[in-house]
Order: sequence, then C-alpha cells, then structure tokens
Amino acid sequence: MTTICYVGLGANLADPERQIDWALQALDRLPASTLEATAPRYRSRAIGPQPQPDYLNTVARLRTALEPLALLRELQALEAARGRVRGVRWGPRPLDLDILLYGDVRLSLPELTIPHPRMAQRNFVLAPLLDLDPQLRLPDGAAIAELLARTGRDGIVRVCFRGTP
Ligand code: ATP
Ligand code: CA
Ligand code: CA
Repeated sequence: MTTICYVGLGANLADPERQIDWALQALDRLPASTLEATAPRYRSRAIGPQPQPDYLNTVARLRTALEPLALLRELQALEAARGRVRGVRWGPRPLDLDILLYGDVRLSLPELTIPHPRMAQRNFVLAPLLDLDPQLRLPDGAAIAELLARTGRDGIVRVCFRGTP
C-alpha cells in the first residue's frame, strides 16, 4: 500500500538553493518512496524572530509506503544531516521538512499533526501546492485554491531557475 504525501521544504541558511536540491534528491532515495513531482520554488519573507534571511520554499509530492511517523523520522534525519540544530522557535535553518498532507489522513499525536496545523494560513506552502495540483483539497474538503485566495500572495515571489518552465 502506498500513499501520496506532500512534503513542504524550506531553507534560509547555507545556500538555500543547494539545500533544496539536496533534499529533493534525498526524498527520492527514502526507503519505499518515490518522488513524483516537485513544485516551482518561491522566495518568502521569514516568519518568526527577525532579522533572518528570506526562505526558499517548495513542495514535493512523494509516493510512499512509510507510515506517517516513520516518514517524520526520516525527514528529521535529513534535517539533521544538513546541520539543523533545534534553537529558537521559527529561527533560521538550513533545511526544514514538514509533512503537509498524507493521503486523506487526519492525525493528532504529540509529535505529529496531519494536515500540518498551520499550512492553511501560509501562502509559501499553498502557492507551490496549488502549482503542483490545482484541484487539491484538504481532508475536510477545503480547496487549496480557496485557501490561497484568502491568504493572498503578499511576501512570496516565484523564483525562476534552471529547470523551471
Ligand atoms: P512549523 O511547524 O510552524 O512549520 P517548524 O517547522 O519550525 O514550525 P520544527 O521545529 O521543525 O517546527 O518542528 C517542531 C516539531 O513539530 C517537530 O519536532 C515535530 O515533532 C512536530 N510536528 C508536528 N506535526 C508535524 C508535521 N506535520 N510535520 C513535521 N513536523 C511536525
Ligand atoms: Ca515548518
Ligand atoms: Ca518543521
């Protein structure tokens, strides 16, 4: 049994482009998983304590046979491999990997909430998600397009880079 899962990627230290390139390759190599598609990248203003550099964000669609908690552990291992250290909340980091959606699963565990609890308010997550899958909805039926219309696109800019049409 495999499930389609959406992973949010963010980086704002140590050459964010390189971090995202590395992370996408690493996602494709996760056990029992295939990287199906990658959204365009967006530059976004950092949330959290200021000043800190802008973020580079994108979203990956991953087909995986890993259970949600096993996937979370794999993602945290990738973050750690890029030198992520837990510091102040929403502080700068070379790599952040969040599970946004995991099929239609809704999960509320101390260490894992799915859908990601803040995704509906974050245009830097919604915009690349919409680019990937324009018809996508949350498990409660809310359309990503509708949520993005609510947040607006303030503070995010789609980045053109090699490979982006
Ligand atoms: P935010 O969660 O607001 O995007 P953040 O990404 O900076 O903030 P982290 O410090 O990376 O937060 O993660 C804090 C904890 O969030 C992790 O240790 C993890 O257990 C938990 N967590 C809960 N739900 C999720 C999820 N859907 N994806 C990733 N981590 C999650
Ligand atoms: Ca995050
Ligand atoms: Ca995170």
